[in-house]
Amino acid sequence: MSKTGKEYLQGITDNRQIYLDGKLVEKPMDHPAFKPIYKTAAALYDFQSSNQELMTVTSPVTGNQVSRHWHIPTTRDELIKRGAAHTAMAEQSCGFFGRSPDAVGSIWAGMAANIDFFKQDNEARANAVREYFEYIRDKDLFLTFTIVNPQGDRSKKVGDQGSKHHTCCVVDEDASGITVSGAKMLGTSAVVADEIFTGVQNPLGEGDEDYALSFAMPMGAPGIKILSRRSYTTGATSEFDYPLSTRFDETDALIYFDQVKVPWDRVFVFRRPDLVQAQFHGTYAETLHSLQSQARLVVKMRFMVGVARRITETIGTINFPPVQQTLGWLSMKVTMVDAAFRAALHDPTEYNGYVVPRKETLYGVMAYTQDLYAKFLQEIKELSGGGLIMLPSSADDFAEPEMKSIIEQTQRSSVTDAEGRVKLMKLAWDAVGSEFASRHALYEMFYAGPPFVARDRCFRSFDWDSGTRLVDDLMASYSLEDSITT
Ligand SMILES: Cc1cc2nc3c(=O)[nH]c(=O)nc-3n(C[C@H](O)[C@H](O)[C@H](O)COP(=O)(O)OP(=O)(O)OC[C@H]3O[C@@H](n4cnc5c(N)ncnc54)[C@H](O)[C@@H]3O)c2cc1C
Repeated sequence: MSKTGKEYLQGITDNRQIYLDGKLVEKPMDHPAFKPIYKTAAALYDFQSSNQELMTVTSPVTGNQVSRHWHIPTTRDELIKRGAAHTAMAEQSCGFFGRSPDAVGSIWAGMAANIDFFKQDNEARANAVREYFEYIRDKDLFLTFTIVNPQGDRSKKVGDQGSKHHTCCVVDEDASGITVSGAKMLGTSAVVADEIFTGVQNPLGEGDEDYALSFAMPMGAPGIKILSRRSYTTGATSEFDYPLSTRFDETDALIYFDQVKVPWDRVFVFRRPDLVQAQFHGTYAETLHSLQSQARLVVKMRFMVGVARRITETIGTINFPPVQQTLGWLSMKVTMVDAAFRAALHDPTEYNGYVVPRKETLYGVMAYTQDLYAKFLQEIKELSGGGLIMLPSSADDFAEPEMKSIIEQTQRSSVTDAEGRVKLMKLAWDAVGSEFASRHALYEMFYAGPPFVARDRCFRSFDWDSGTRLVDDLMASYSLEDSITT
């Protein structure tokens, strides 16, 4: 039997320090800002335990069923099954739970695919990676991660941000471990995760050794402070008005490490600027993370196309040729992204004895989709017109008889009643226009790093020879000499 939602929630009963609206949150699981996302996260574990063949594998150590994302595929069939599990997981939130447990779990599977990488630091660090991977796999833990230095002045070095505690760095070390202080951005799902993995994606150089760390700790470890952004759940008037904000606000937070003691067996890179960023692209971490991300994005784009289609049916524009052109454009983009995801599964490569997606396939589609999602939202808004705003202020308007009568007379559609029309338009607003929706547009643009970093990955991974060879062969087939006619 794999971990259930109840068991996951029992594991959360620690003293994690979450700050919201100027207060330390006493019981996060009962707090209106976080209660729904705990419920959603627990439902993911329940979904897994009731679909074990699809969603789980057997731990080679304990013999228990654990999430499939911990298993590094050794055959193409296993890779395809991994993809199917990511898709099924994403479908539970229509793609709106970005950092579901299989997200950072996949980063760890990718790191475990090349434990030797960490021997470049030393044997002890490599052993720490191996043992920690087995620990999180066998307990089927939910991890968040923070691998970006907080945005301050990007023209200055990490140590020159004007405050000693701006960016997480090592402040002490002894025989038992290291002590870290300072901040990291942005712990999505930190509120609901079991553990936090911290590293550095920003380039570091000589002199930045104190910042060149990667480590993991339980979310409730003394000194870890979770400074949550505002809640979209509590800002929502009801589930009818905001069906996505009220279920899938996975939370984002600045994580502040206040003199946090990290034992050596949880330190994976120590004072190595050359390794701390490379641990993501020098292993398979980035790529397996991208596989999960693209599986989720395909689900989310399908959902958005579904919203667009229902809107055009509801407002009676579905048969207008320009509207069909726009729907065709939306469906074309989903098909292309889905095709890239399938190519990642069906045209894999070998890596350290494992069978994994090609880096260039996933880097390419990831960079392509960074601004595509915002364009998607724009097209759906254009299809919708002011119907997204011509809506009752909240579900309560239906409870007042005179208002209800006016709503029924004015929210007209040939395919549904007033309640159906309002329900759809409110869902559409939460998907494309609300604060929740706006945050998702930013998420898709930045979750894997800024666009210039995504394009740099493409530059580094593309098979340039495949193009330059054609150019060189063609140019070798003619000469200046043969072309001179006089
Ligand atoms: C909703 C959301 C959730 C997130 N969740 C997580 C998470 O769970 N874990 C995590 O670790 N991170 C998370 N992040 C952080 C994310 O990884 C970063 O936002 C991303 O890496 C970009 O870094 P930045 O925001 O500091 O932008 P910056 O690096 O400051 O870049 C901002 C813009 O400045 C320009 N720019 C900056 N530097 C350069 C340069 N050297 N060359 C050219 N142009 C440049 C670019 O136009 C860039 O787009 C999240 C972000 C968002 C928005």
